[in-house]
Amino acid sequence: MGSQLTPMTGPACPGRPQQEIKHRMTALSAKNIGTMTPLMRQYYRIKERHAGAVLLFRMGDFYETFEDDARTLHRVLGITLTKRSNGQASDVPLAGFPHHALDNYLPKLVRAGLRVAVCEQLEDPKEAKTIVKRDVVEIVTPGVSLSDGLLEPNRSNFLAAVHVSEGAKGMAGALAGVAYLDASTGEFAATEVPIDRLTDLLQTIQPAEILVRKGAPAPPKQGAIVTEVEDWVFTEDFARESLLRHFRTHSLKGFGVDDLTVGLVAAGAALHYFSETQQGRIPHIRRLVRLATDDYMVLDAQTKRNLELVASMQAGGQDGSLVGILERTLTPMGGRLLRQWLLRPLRDVAAIRRRLDAVEAFFASRRLRDDVRGILQPIGDMERIAARVATGRAGPRDLDQLKVALRAIPALVGAVGDEANEALRAVAIDLDALPSLCDDLDRALVDDPPATLRDSGAIRAGYDAELDDLREIARSGKDFLARLQRDEMERTGIPSLKVGFNKVFGYYLEITNTHRDRIPADYIRKQTLVGAERYITPALKEYEEKILTAEDRIAQLESSLFAALRDRVAEQVPTLQTNAHALATIDVLASLAEVAVRSRFVRPYVHEGTDLEIEAGRHPVVEHSLPPGEPFIPNSVRIDPASEQILVITGPNMAGKSVYLRQVGLIVLLAQIGSFVPADKARIGVVDRIFTRVGASDNLTAGESTFLVEMNETASILHNATPRSLILLDEVGRGTSTFDGLSIAWALVEYLHENPAVAARTLFATHYHELNDLATRYERIRNYRVQVQEHADRVIFLRRVVPGGADHSYGIEVARMAGLPQPLIERAREVLHYLEAHPLADAVRDVSSGVGDLPRPAVRSVVPGGPPHQMSLFEAAPPDPFVEAVRERLRTADPDRLTPIEALLLVSSLKRILDDGPS
Ligand code: ATP
Repeated sequence: MGSQLTPMTGPACPGRPQQEIKHRMTALSAKNIGTMTPLMRQYYRIKERHAGAVLLFRMGDFYETFEDDARTLHRVLGITLTKRSNGQASDVPLAGFPHHALDNYLPKLVRAGLRVAVCEQLEDPKEAKTIVKRDVVEIVTPGVSLSDGLLEPNRSNFLAAVHVSEGAKGMAGALAGVAYLDASTGEFAATEVPIDRLTDLLQTIQPAEILVRKGAPAPPKQGAIVTEVEDWVFTEDFARESLLRHFRTHSLKGFGVDDLTVGLVAAGAALHYFSETQQGRIPHIRRLVRLATDDYMVLDAQTKRNLELVASMQAGGQDGSLVGILERTLTPMGGRLLRQWLLRPLRDVAAIRRRLDAVEAFFASRRLRDDVRGILQPIGDMERIAARVATGRAGPRDLDQLKVALRAIPALVGAVGDEANEALRAVAIDLDALPSLCDDLDRALVDDPPATLRDSGAIRAGYDAELDDLREIARSGKDFLARLQRDEMERTGIPSLKVGFNKVFGYYLEITNTHRDRIPADYIRKQTLVGAERYITPALKEYEEKILTAEDRIAQLESSLFAALRDRVAEQVPTLQTNAHALATIDVLASLAEVAVRSRFVRPYVHEGTDLEIEAGRHPVVEHSLPPGEPFIPNSVRIDPASEQILVITGPNMAGKSVYLRQVGLIVLLAQIGSFVPADKARIGVVDRIFTRVGASDNLTAGESTFLVEMNETASILHNATPRSLILLDEVGRGTSTFDGLSIAWALVEYLHENPAVAARTLFATHYHELNDLATRYERIRNYRVQVQEHADRVIFLRRVVPGGADHSYGIEVARMAGLPQPLIERAREVLHYLEAHPLADAVRDVSSGVGDLPRPAVRSVVPGGPPHQMSLFEAAPPDPFVEAVRERLRTADPDRLTPIEALLLVSSLKRILDDGPS
């Protein structure tokens, strides 16, 4: 369930009502402040400001948690609970871990859906006069994270905010404002959509966390955690003020978002929440982009799922999905951009062609492709490094990696910028190698620097004179000690004499008791051990002072030199972000070309018309997953709303109907992201929406039967399709009785044909070969079938889609292949022949009621107590009371309406009939 954000007190809270602050004070006083130790008092003060978060409270070398937070740590991390005395108040439960384990434990807490506030000691305990100053320096949540431990390289990590127009909730005309922000890259966008498009939009964004106004109805979660935020944050005035202050502008016109209302409120809430978690350090959020949803093809949740764009239906992972085939990107930011492109195909023909032009340039020149991909390989994640620089988190290795990336840019500009291809040149124009910054980094950092500043040695010799001197002192001091040890050994004649160091006494000379009588008079005894004694001399202490001071100072100086360097890089964050976007774009374009070459894709011709023609198209994923030796059979399609608007595709089970439908959808989608397509030739009249209704997907957990889901999805298609859409219908009407289903399917095809508002290009795969009759009645309906060959009672799948309808379904053949018992298969054939030989309604009635001239089956009837006996086919069997009782029970049950409990009751009543006999 949602946790609740109580924003921090701080300067950035215009409009914060006084009563809220008062409420906090009351809560704190209820804790009996007077009786607490000062430390616990400090703890509760800080905790009070971060009520919705687990507070990791730094105490020396440990992060400690108390009370509920301690119990949470115990539950999530398995850390043992202990107790701590809280002054006169009772003991409080406590759980903690060493500070160096933070990188390990923090991701685990956040992945468990928790918000975590990290509270640090803000001064050196040695210098603190009373209690050490502490405060929260960062809040990490599932949607706000900058740490590598929580981020996946190729996936964006979005925080979304949703705000629905006031007073219009639940009404059809309500608007939903949505903003989303990736803390790790600085991407920030807002938009507004009709409320019924909210789920689809959130599905495309795939946020890790969704912010809503406290008390507002929960949004469609999509696997994200939902966080409630105080309602004063969700107001337009607050949003405008926060955004203007952050961007330091007088208006939001420049961002093209000025006329947004609920979208702006959502943006303000997202920015505020992010700023609170980072103590206001969010300079890498440099712009707010308006997401123009009309620029993109709409893909609803089930279409994304059915077409398996980013996850396969079976395993749920990337394997077996379209992105699994397309992802040949070489940088993390390229991987992230590819996913965005996939989930947001374009609708503007000129924009699609620009991408296609660029892909073609890479496709046509192997040299260019190899050169560019070679240059991209070592570039790394410039976008996330820029965000870490901006938020003061970047370490020496980050800056080193940045240097590597910047150094690669001139070669990339050379390779891409000289291209005759205008689309590629346009991307390359954004690249800036920042040579002077690069030189600074080169001069300042050693090659292969350590990961953190804690391990000193990141700054190169020669960069800073004072640092060089100090290092020399430290080094010569150490030489001096080595010399001293040698000299003292000689002077005293003690061969085992050694110089050592510990934190309490500093440097010392250690002499074993065997040689105690040879100790010189100027040695000052400091410590007695079991078999030895430790001494100091004035000369030793003098050097100790020099070395230790030098080492302290080295650490300080390195850290401030590094901070200055990072600040210098931080000034260039905007340029780094622009670079990162250009690099990501080049990476995706080159990757699409690489896939096109490897998988034999061709450039599609995308145009403003509505006809769609694919020659020898292939399913990009299935063709890769067939067993060796089983070739993928290409198929063509031609749909033109003016002449061939609806294709009714019949064919046996397993023939390849679903694959065919999906491949048409995927080819259109690929073309509109700017990719080449798996076909010999493709003309794609641009599509505004792809709708799919594929297979029977149960949603029983939501209380919906298979058939209801099917009808819901179909209704949504009919309400939203336009003549520019592409509809892929697979098996509509299968979840109910044959007559009902057939009638619905029939009427649906007619509706799509006769209704100009929804006269979309449609592929309708069906087992109802009766639908073939429609083609004779309506001019824009065509029949196709997936060809099979019958061979000695067997069916050979040819997987070829050819004109004309199939006259039967071969379902029994598929049942046989699946291993159903032979007698059952034979009986099914008998029934089928009977049904086919008689008028449908009569035959169905005859078969179910046992009249007519269909012979009874060979039945194994189990009589309690007696041996089973075989009845002849033609022997009139007496009615079995058990079967009759069960039949009666089932006849009255309606599976589409049964609740799970009713279903259980039904099963137990059937069992009772078997156990107790028919009554
Ligand atoms: P059903 O009516 O039972 O749903 P279907 O006609 O929709 O069956 P598909 O699921 O499309 O059949 O295809 C069944 C299998 O046939 C696929 O999993 C795939 O392995 C194979 N197949 C489909 N199309 C082709 C093709 N064009 N070339 C090679 N193999 C194919």
